[in-house]
Amino acid sequence: MAKPADTRTAGRKPVAKATRTAAETEKIRAALAARRDELRAEYDRTLSEITELQRDRLTDSAGDDQADTGTKTFEREQEISLANSILERITQVERALERLDEGGYGWCERCGNPIPVERLAAFPSATLCVTCKQLEERR
Ligand SMILES: [Zn+2]
Repeated sequence: MAKPADTRTAGRKPVAKATRTAAETEKIRAALAARRDELRAEYDRTLSEITELQRDRLTDSAGDDQADTGTKTFEREQEISLANSILERITQVERALERLDEGGYGWCERCGNPIPVERLAAFPSATLCVTCKQLEERR
């Protein structure tokens, strides 16, 4: 018979030296989750636009000259690259949520201070606090 896994203590402690309260962590989680939902809605919208463009291309391409076809192809390619970049942002947010669970998310890589919740919500991939980011950019 297998021993029951110790799930109570495993991975619960934050790795960083500073601590964040559970309430703060929850706030970050909520902000990230809201961001992910927004992005997913945006992604769905873009996908249906792509489908529509595709349909247009198939249905009324009979009278099109080459320029029209070119424009439509260009529009569709734009939509596709937009969809891809949204998908990338969704992945970023999901990765951030995973790291948050492990306690390794939301700390400035340079000074070790917690990055403000608002900043994390706006830039889930942020690894520096605003002060350090500005110092970095000035160099
Ligand atoms: Zn910093």
